[in-house]
Order: sequence, then structure tokens, then C-alpha cells
Amino acid sequence: MTTATTIVRCGNCGHKNRVPLAAGGRPRCGNCHRALPWIVDAFDDTFAEVAEKADPPVIVDMWATWCGPCRMVSPALERLAIERAGDVKLVKVDVDRAPRLSSRFTVQAVPTLLIMHHGKVIARQAGAAPVEVLRRWFDDAMEKDAREEKSASPGADRERRS
Ligand SMILES: [Zn+2]
Repeated sequence: MTTATTIVRCGNCGHKNRVPLAAGGRPRCGNCHRALPWIVDAFDDTFAEVAEKADPPVIVDMWATWCGPCRMVSPALERLAIERAGDVKLVKVDVDRAPRLSSRFTVQAVPTLLIMHHGKVIARQAGAAPVEVLRRWFDDAMEKDAREEKSASPGADRERRS
């Protein structure tokens, strides 16, 4: 279990919070209790606990340092993660430092974006897109996911605890 943390400043009250990279539930501000944006890096050895076991839906940004379009997409995703704080975790994977993940998800181009929920890939897209498109892509995937979870297990809420 990774015990690494990152410092996140609350967008509401400015309080600096120490937020774990991997944890059950969803981070909230220690001062005002608003949901905090959750933006973390993952590698081959931490992806399972950071992304697959996460409670909120996860956007996986598979990027590379040498990739021009990634420099446009990453800030757009960060903006989305701030807007949808509490409803999404953004997990950034540098493909050059995560060869096993790149081959597992057959990443042929960067950026490749995945939406995962409870370990399952529910949407995928390759290439850059502006924030409006990413926001719609994410919200549509969430709507579809909610419908499917409801029909798959009526009444069942969340059985997952770390
Ligand atoms: Zn706060």
C-alpha cells in the first residue's frame, strides 16, 4: 500500500490538505469539508491501488513528455478534475515510465484517455480534445455507467472498501 501523499489547496477556503494518492472514499477539505480535486500520478506498480481500487470514477491520462497534444490535454483534464471534484479522480500515467500499463491498454498513440470505474474501462478515446468535448465525454460515460450499474444490481450500493 502506498502511503505517498500530495498537497492539495482547497478551491473553496484555501486550506492546504495532505491527500493520499490511494485511499478509500473521496478526499474532502479538512477545514470546510468540500470535495477536493484528486489528481495523482501512477506507475505500473501503483496503478492497481491508485486507479483500479479508487471509489470515484477515474480518468486515466496516458501521456508522454515528448507529446505535443498531451500538453494541451493535461491542463484540460486538470480543469475537469477541479470542476468535478468529488466525482472523479484524475490519474496520470507517463507511458515511458509505465511499459506494462501501455501494453495492457494497447496504447498506440498518446494521449490515450480512459475512464475506469471500479477497475473496469467504461470509455476510451485517443488524441487531444478541448475541455468542452472532454467534459461531455466524461458526463456521457457517467450517465451510461449509472444506468448500467442500476440495471445490473438494483439496490446494491457500494461493496468496495479498501
Ligand atoms: Zn476548504
